[in-house]
Amino acid sequence: MTVDFSSADGPNSLSTKGGSDGSTACVSLVGVTKSYEPGSPPAVCALDLSIRAGEFFSLLGPSGSGKTTTLRIIAGFEAPDAGVVRLDGADVSRMPPYRRDISTVFQSYALFPHMTTEKNIAYPLRMHKVPKPEIKRRVGEALELVSMTGFDGRLPHQLSGGQRQRIALARALVSRPKVVLLDEPLGALDLQLRQSMQIMLKQLQREVDVTFIYVTHDQGEALAMSDRLAVMDHGRILQLGAPEDVYYRPANRFVAGFIGKSNLVPATIQMSGGRAVASCGEFALRVPDTALPGAATLAIRYEALRARPAQDGLDPSPGEHLGSVRDVIFLGDGLELVVSVSGVDLVVKVGGQRLRDFERGDRVLVGIDPNDIVVLDG
Ligand code: ADP
Ligand code: MG
Repeated sequence: MTVDFSSADGPNSLSTKGGSDGSTACVSLVGVTKSYEPGSPPAVCALDLSIRAGEFFSLLGPSGSGKTTTLRIIAGFEAPDAGVVRLDGADVSRMPPYRRDISTVFQSYALFPHMTTEKNIAYPLRMHKVPKPEIKRRVGEALELVSMTGFDGRLPHQLSGGQRQRIALARALVSRPKVVLLDEPLGALDLQLRQSMQIMLKQLQREVDVTFIYVTHDQGEALAMSDRLAVMDHGRILQLGAPEDVYYRPANRFVAGFIGKSNLVPATIQMSGGRAVASCGEFALRVPDTALPGAATLAIRYEALRARPAQDGLDPSPGEHLGSVRDVIFLGDGLELVVSVSGVDLVVKVGGQRLRDFERGDRVLVGIDPNDIVVLDG
């Protein structure tokens, strides 16, 4: 699809590239706190957040962690009890939503049921008294952007769930906002459609170069689409970074447990000749030498561990530990083995293996690269 927005008028054309080098904070929250009821724990607590222009930024967390509240505060639907919201550096904390140059896409299709696709998309432009010929042109462009050209006469009930969300997206983009907020927009769609919509959304965001703030409880979605993401729990940000950082370097047990699958193993770290060694039950593991002595939790991704059948007479290689298989779980594209190593159960993901390759009771060698171990506070 090629839509040439370079001919579009005005400084806030959709193709405006300004700020996508990451130098400008497009949206920033400083110390934002919000309680819905006096005495109840805050829905959002002392939140500091700085989102760059042109970024695809996700808020990821379990239900009730404060994602929607954060989004509603950015949009202006809720006022914070304390703290400041800035848009391009300007304090908008007291500014009503319609003046904020922000559009929102919700999970439930907030399309007007009695209006055609065309009228739905045109609505924000009609509110802003844009001349009719321009409305027609921009609605056409927005429809093309979401690959829905030709659907302008349909009513919402004549569209599938995925198509309705495309129209909601077109309506959010047609006013050429600085920021689009998306609150679990794919939550009502089935898995396959969700995955194809993820790709479409990411491509679209790159194309229009608008800042997207995306709320989801689905880690796969956040990892696949985001430039950066913030992991939230109980109204606080527990870690903020690029998907790879958050995945491979979880900052705490919550993040290690919430994103991907990790073994969390209690351990005691000791230094021996400048090397860090973790004692876990009855066996010892090399860990990164930057670890501090004392009680710790080791986070080890399931897929970072290796397992191979132990053969009699063959000693483990360095970094390998003898264990026995306690359980085998079939995943389709591989297996998860629960392996008991000196009394510690470790889950190992072995990709591409068939069920017949491992059995309960098998003796296996579990390999661990010290660099794949993240040492967290005990
Ligand atoms: P999320 O979007 O991550 O699921 P929310 O921001 O919706 O989280 O909710 C955060 C917390 O605030 C939850 O404990 C929720 O029950 C509470 N909450 C959300 N909206 C309201 C409301 N309108 N009135 C009272 N409590 C609310
Ligand atoms: Mg929510």
